[in-house]
Amino acid sequence: MSNNDEANKASSTKTVFKYGEDDETIVDAVATTITSNIDALDSAMYQDDEDEQQQETTEVAAGGDKTSADYYFDSYSHFGIHEEMLKDVVRTKTYQNVIYKNTFLFKDKIVLDVGAGTGILSLFCAKAGAKHVYAVECSQMADMAKEIVKANGFSDVITVLKGKVEELELPVPKVDIIISEWMGYFLLYENMLDTVLYARDKWLVNDGIVLPDNASLHLTAIEDAEYKEDKIEFWNNVYGFDMSCIRKQSIMEPLVDTVDQNQIVTNCQLLKTMDISKMTSGDASFTAPFRLVAERDDYIHALVAYFDVAFTVCHKMTGFSTGPRSKNTHWKQTVLYLEEVLTICQGESITGSMTVAQNKKNPRDVDITLSYSLNGQRCVVSRTQQYKMR
Ligand code: SAH
Repeated sequence: MSNNDEANKASSTKTVFKYGEDDETIVDAVATTITSNIDALDSAMYQDDEDEQQQETTEVAAGGDKTSADYYFDSYSHFGIHEEMLKDVVRTKTYQNVIYKNTFLFKDKIVLDVGAGTGILSLFCAKAGAKHVYAVECSQMADMAKEIVKANGFSDVITVLKGKVEELELPVPKVDIIISEWMGYFLLYENMLDTVLYARDKWLVNDGIVLPDNASLHLTAIEDAEYKEDKIEFWNNVYGFDMSCIRKQSIMEPLVDTVDQNQIVTNCQLLKTMDISKMTSGDASFTAPFRLVAERDDYIHALVAYFDVAFTVCHKMTGFSTGPRSKNTHWKQTVLYLEEVLTICQGESITGSMTVAQNKKNPRDVDITLSYSLNGQRCVVSRTQQYKMR
């Protein structure tokens, strides 16, 4: 899953430049739909009171035409987001392979699907021989999931439960397997990991398994003069006026976009590994050191973060990477622009640390602090920058 207002806006802007005139309108229209749905997320999660007030409208509308107010309070209710996720074949095929090629894990087991969406993972599990699957989904998509389960003849095996994982009771005391697609942009944006950990601690049997059970965050550095100029430096001179106060804001917002592998200047470094079957919620906030060594003489404009996930309990280890050298996924990569351009020579290294923390006011936002230094032949820089995914 992934749902980021700013990121969608930003990346759609970039997409516009890549397409011709005709496509521009289409892309923009799509972006607007996504954005208006996504604007809702925070409110849906945090304005419980308002949520309750809206309940009546939402329930009524669920059976008929939806209004923008319904989407405002529940972005995952719209099929567009699910379409994007389902069409991400790297993502969906990996889950399918994990399940279909490891039926020994699922045979006669009780499975909990955390955040079931359309119910796709539950259907895979049912087909692989699970004894029963509980598919929990809090958005209006739960109603569709119920219909989908019925239409495909799995009503006996899959029970769709509409509600928040944190607020409902399961008809069984324990489950053998927890499966979930909880990953957000930069892995941790949206913070659905906490929901998975909550479900694990409440319902998973002692020797139960969590799928996926491993997630890791990686960092590299890129040359990106053209796009930094377009997105960041643009604000220095707008039709002859100084708008650099906005530059300060724009550089603080990590950009979710695809990076061409030819832009990579240094090695890729593992920052953090998470064992989803053992970790605690607090482990998702951390400080990790890094050392990025230049593989050629070049300029560096940004650091790029991406994540990998793995299912280590499979017969053959399975997983996927969202890195710039792998096939593109809907998560793309997360680009953190640096204040100034680094002139780096082959063999020189940027050393530093990255601190990742939940935002205190809004735990679905991620605060990132990047400290880095380069003590090179042609460039000496030492700096700390703050970023905010929101
Ligand atoms: N499993 C589906 C959907 C993944 S997207 C698939 O792989 O295609 C994540 C889903 O989790 C969204 O539909 C969202 O509405 C749901 N979700 C997020 N937090 C939740 C919570 N606390 N309780 C129940 N569902 C949740």
